[in-house]
Amino acid sequence: MSIETVLDKIDANLPEATERLFDLLRIKSISTDPAYAADCAKAADWLAAELSALGFDAAARATPGHPMVVGHAGGSGRHLLFYGHYDVQPVDPLDLWHRDPFDPAIEDTPKGKVIRGRGASDDKGQLMTFIEACRAWKAVHGTLPGRLTVLLEGEEESGSPSLAPFLKDHADELAADLVLVCDTGLFDDRSPAIEMMLRGILALEIVIRGADRDLHSGLYGGPAINPIRVLTRILSDLHDDDGRITLPGFYDDVDELPDDVRAQWQRLNFNHERFLEAVGLSVPAGEQDRTPLEMVWSRPTLDVNGIAGGYAGAGFKTVLPAEARAKLSFRLVSRQDSRKIEEAFRAYVASQLPADCTAEITTAVAAPAAVNDLSDPAFELARAALAEEWQLPASYTGSGGSIPVVSLFKSILGLDSLMVGFGRNSDQIHSPNEKYDVESFHKGMRSWARILHALNA
Ligand SMILES: [Zn+2]
Repeated sequence: MSIETVLDKIDANLPEATERLFDLLRIKSISTDPAYAADCAKAADWLAAELSALGFDAAARATPGHPMVVGHAGGSGRHLLFYGHYDVQPVDPLDLWHRDPFDPAIEDTPKGKVIRGRGASDDKGQLMTFIEACRAWKAVHGTLPGRLTVLLEGEEESGSPSLAPFLKDHADELAADLVLVCDTGLFDDRSPAIEMMLRGILALEIVIRGADRDLHSGLYGGPAINPIRVLTRILSDLHDDDGRITLPGFYDDVDELPDDVRAQWQRLNFNHERFLEAVGLSVPAGEQDRTPLEMVWSRPTLDVNGIAGGYAGAGFKTVLPAEARAKLSFRLVSRQDSRKIEEAFRAYVASQLPADCTAEITTAVAAPAAVNDLSDPAFELARAALAEEWQLPASYTGSGGSIPVVSLFKSILGLDSLMVGFGRNSDQIHSPNEKYDVESFHKGMRSWARILHALNA
């Protein structure tokens, strides 16, 4: 089976593929605003019809929110579950767009041709790279590439409320060997990447209380404990001088990077001086024995996000406050368990509390990190296919943030996700004048054809 004929078909089909993407981009599928519910349903129906025309057994399936599009194609070999989302972010502020966000067009820019419109990149353009790769494959071979299930969500931009229940209710139907996710980007403008790890999060609020009322520091200053002093002491002792977090056991479940991945990261063209300079900083403040990329992608952190207590308004008030509070968040990696970290934090705070003080700790958010098991040969096959298409090495990368769907695929379906995307930092997703480079769309289709070829060989 030659891949070249499929790639030629993709090249020849680019104008029609772009027109089909425009049809999808014209549908105003803004998931967060109930006024666009009918548009979301329309986008789901449009996609179900496209998949059906390609030979998928496909339908838009009702959920308590917007529909889920599911399509199955028989075939043999590795069962792949492709995920994308057809909903988009609101377009406000509308006056900052230089064209109607739902009237897509190709524009010439100094950096090449771009497809302009809401969803051009996130995620309609990206998900269509996969569907169009399937179309070219079908045109050449008469069948779809292997055993495929497609799952297209309509609520990703509004918190995915229906996704976990849908995955649970349809776990048998959605069983597969690997998930393909197309909702990420290139590392820089040219280098392909496979995102291999996303950090998790544990967000907490802590309130330290002392006296049963606010006091006057002239009357009580000295004998009365000050909760702000207690809180700031607790917080400041959570990091040592080398930027490490001091909670006992905090690093127990943190895995070291595989050597080959570390070597890839060292080769990446990441300029940390410029990264910091862009926000008025110069010196990396995290763990001193780690590179800035590791700090952001593969190492856990703790940050105080807010702190309050006493009087901080205009003028001055010599108050000795009854309480002080802070909000903090950990970014978690590897196998770190948010419950274990929270217990360690509670134990640490309890050990630091002086007489007459209490601490109240509440958890706001907890989600584990998502780390893919790279021992599946699919990852290396995909990496080679991407390098072939882009003519540059493809790297495994991390992400400081999280993509909740990837954690759900892991926890509910037990599946790893191959996260491949062709977006660029300049795409302005979620902002006015969103674009997708024609090159991303074109080479994205070709990349999927190569990956599907490699995984089915
Ligand atoms: Zn997205």
